[in-house]
Amino acid sequence: MPLPIRLYDSLSRKLTLLEPVDTQREKVTIYTCGPTVYNYAHIGNLRSYLWEDFLTRTLRLFGYEVIHVMNITDVDDKTIRDAKAANLPLKEFTNRYTEAFFQDISALKIHPANHYPRATDFISQMQTIITYLLQNGYAYVSEEGSVYFKIDAFADYGKLSGRKNVTSHKHRIATDEYDDKEGLHDFALWKTWKEEDGDVYWDSPWGKGRPGWHIECSAMAMHYLGETIDIHCGGADNLFPHHENEIAQSEAYTGKQFVKIWLHGEWLLVDGKKMSKSLGNFFTLRDLMERGISPRTFRFFVLSTHYRSPINFTFDAIQDIENRLKKMDEFWYSLVKNSDDKGDNIEEILFFENKFIQALAEDLNTSKALAILSEFIKFVNQLRANAKLSQKLLNEIKRVWLKFDQVYQSLVPWETRQFLSEVEILSKIQERELARKNKNFDIADKIRQELYQQGVILEDTPKGTIWRWRS
Ligand code: AMP
Ligand code: ZN
Repeated sequence: MPLPIRLYDSLSRKLTLLEPVDTQREKVTIYTCGPTVYNYAHIGNLRSYLWEDFLTRTLRLFGYEVIHVMNITDVDDKTIRDAKAANLPLKEFTNRYTEAFFQDISALKIHPANHYPRATDFISQMQTIITYLLQNGYAYVSEEGSVYFKIDAFADYGKLSGRKNVTSHKHRIATDEYDDKEGLHDFALWKTWKEEDGDVYWDSPWGKGRPGWHIECSAMAMHYLGETIDIHCGGADNLFPHHENEIAQSEAYTGKQFVKIWLHGEWLLVDGKKMSKSLGNFFTLRDLMERGISPRTFRFFVLSTHYRSPINFTFDAIQDIENRLKKMDEFWYSLVKNSDDKGDNIEEILFFENKFIQALAEDLNTSKALAILSEFIKFVNQLRANAKLSQKLLNEIKRVWLKFDQVYQSLVPWETRQFLSEVEILSKIQERELARKNKNFDIADKIRQELYQQGVILEDTPKGTIWRWRS
């Protein structure tokens, strides 16, 4: 049986025990709003994908089978606008940024989703839902031929964003993104073709046109995950109108609860401000790497803050993270050395392991989890100082540390592919010496390279070869 976990549901505004729809309560379905592929992902977008990765990794660690779908929005107002500006066919334009997105998430060690549906492959599923909504009084065709969702026809409209009692909806809105704090609007399900759409259109019973953004996610989510999904995630900006509209369309269509737990992550700010090109504070992962900030550092930076708190990106904060990682690397490498100590107090190690799990089980409490890691390091160092760090304990400590790293994926140096003991390193060095003596320089070089790949740097000095860990 998987371990219990409680998550903060934005709809009920309560910490909610995860109880998957799956009868065995073992399989969890998750839908996360993915990238709109009209540009490179910025580090704010990446924050969202990172905490979502933290979630799915935690669920796996807890013993759940995760079925994760992340959509690719490859047709909407912005993709059409920018493909036209770039003078490229929509598909070619969006493919470029879809590829860049996959490179970014792989560089950040984000566990791939099970499915990455592209909106343009699901037009007929969207049309099926729209047809039903029209036939059942939830939607209407406007004078110019677009189809709109009629929010008055759905009694629960506004329940997610808390705008349920706002009655004044003055007009309908054609754009995908809007932020109207006062009124609510009928929103577009299907947008009739306009000249600026160029060759981007699909035939439909309502004439040629294209889907609105919101219906895309409902169609793709239900196609893969069924009518009721366990967890739906997105950034805070997705809550209204996007997710509010997803609920309206989906629940009007199925008559069932669309999502059991809604999770919304907070914003990433740069120097306390919203990122924007005009402020010059807009960064992609590539920009960070050019400044010498590794994906591992950025990953740990993001995962050090709880997903429901804003993060302020500054270069000072990154420096702090780098210092923390350096200390953790030292800790990890200190576990390499064999030990002759006595001591077998395994319970205390299990205590830390439990505490860590408990922290994650309360809405992914990363601050608590990291505090436990610091305590753990202190505890191990204390054992060493008291000569109680036996080999048996060391092995157990490594196991537990690697378990912690299953979710963080940044606690262990990324270069260290395999764990080499000091004895193994020294024997490799001897092997290399022998090869050099016999003028087998190819073999000697090969050994040096192999060691390098495993995080070990060799230096040939007049006194012989010395080694150190790559930092
Ligand atoms: P988009 O590509 O604009 O559809 O956004 C993809 C994801 O990134 C969504 O879940 C957004 O909520 C999220 N997102 C956008 N900007 C930020 C930001 N500055 N901080 C955190 N998440 C963001
Ligand atoms: Zn979405």
